[in-house]
Amino acid sequence: MRFNLRTRLSISYIFVAMVCVMLISLAANLILERQFQGYVRGNLERSHRLIIERIRQQYLQTGGLRKEDIEAVGIAALEQGMILQIRDGSGKMIWDATVHNNGMCHQMLMHLSRNMLSRYPNWKANYKENRYPIRNNFKTIGTVTIGHYGPFYLNDTDLDFINTLNRILTVITLLVLMIALFVGWWMAKRIGDPIVRVIDSAERIAKGDYDLEHFEATQIKELYHLTHTMDALAQELKKQETLRKRLTADVAHELRTPLATLQSHLEAMQDGVWQLDDRRLQGLLDEVTRLNRMVKDLNKLAKYDRDHEVLRKTKFNLSELVQQIVYNFEPEFSAKGVTLSFQGDPLWVEADRDKMSQMIINLIANGLKFTPTDGKVEISIEGNGSEAVLYVRDNGIGIDAEDLPYIFERFYRADKSRNRSTGGSGIGLTITKAIVEAHGGRIMVESQPGRGTQFVVALPIHAA
Ligand code: ADP
Repeated sequence: MRFNLRTRLSISYIFVAMVCVMLISLAANLILERQFQGYVRGNLERSHRLIIERIRQQYLQTGGLRKEDIEAVGIAALEQGMILQIRDGSGKMIWDATVHNNGMCHQMLMHLSRNMLSRYPNWKANYKENRYPIRNNFKTIGTVTIGHYGPFYLNDTDLDFINTLNRILTVITLLVLMIALFVGWWMAKRIGDPIVRVIDSAERIAKGDYDLEHFEATQIKELYHLTHTMDALAQELKKQETLRKRLTADVAHELRTPLATLQSHLEAMQDGVWQLDDRRLQGLLDEVTRLNRMVKDLNKLAKYDRDHEVLRKTKFNLSELVQQIVYNFEPEFSAKGVTLSFQGDPLWVEADRDKMSQMIINLIANGLKFTPTDGKVEISIEGNGSEAVLYVRDNGIGIDAEDLPYIFERFYRADKSRNRSTGGSGIGLTITKAIVEAHGGRIMVESQPGRGTQFVVALPIHAA
């Protein structure tokens, strides 16, 4: 059977509270009962001593035991549940409660037995009599017989005390139950509400709705993590979804042109409008080559999207890495007749070495691609406060001002390069920028058409 959290918690709280209250009541009743019985017995003994003492006092005041004098003592004792018989030294009865008022004695005993039965339903009436001698200067001046229910009995005050105590315990029990109910409900609300919201959000995410409202802050650590993870999950999924949509749209857009060209050219040849000659076949082959290159680049992008979040950072000298890449590029540069130079101080960074290489290769490769023969590409590294700044400068074709803001976008190629056979797919700079930003750096570009381009990459230095 499945209960919701609120019911479950409330039941648990009530259960714990009930057990506590029951244990406390039990302990209170057991301990108090024993103490209380001891107290009542002590009281009874004290009353007996007091009665004897008062009779003795009467004797001392009047020099004998007279009925009129001791009657007050007997009546007071009767009111407290004791039936007195007082005899003088010769054994002659002076005052007897049953003789004085037998009806009242009877009534009083009935009343006490009712008291006792109300508290102890199994109580058996046990009437007993204690006989005490009354002495003065070692002389027995009389005897008193005190009859009462034994070994103890509860008069109205005693019973009131016990009943009040039980009433207090009952009220406390009710109060504790109410508090338990409230605390259970409140706790369940505090724990349950965020969980319900997480469930809601998960259901919405499952339906493809990633625009979740932000979760309210909760004081419970685990729930705080849970809601935050949920937030992060939604955001990540949203990002992935946007990427996927954009990629699909971009790919469709990129494929459309070469495929349309291929189709129209092939149709023209089929219809006999165009002759099938080497030049046209070459044109078709170029388009196919371009498609092929694009598919390869798409693979690169897919790979990058897959593992761009994971940075395997190590500490290394950035200048050394650039020097190595420059060295590898030299044959390609000299083949095209473009000069490549590098200068830089040793600067240590903590970064993903592979991704840094990819970023530097992209920039140098673009320099080579967009700089004509006899041009030059200069690379330098400088320390600037807490940053290592990499400059990749060329005196190539440059980028038009209207293209400049978009060159880091996916698949964006400036018109000039679009027409060139060297043109790539416009993915290199997108990846380059993402790598720099993933490392907490910035990338900037300045360019003048016909005069050249400079890329500036600033990366945090690793404080050795
Ligand atoms: P790709 O080089 O594959 O076309 P990139 O993302 O690397 O894609 O570059 C995007 C566009 O930015 C290029 O097509 C080109 O128009 C322009 N570009 C990049 N680097 C340079 C450069 N050094 N000189 C001139 N234009 C450049």
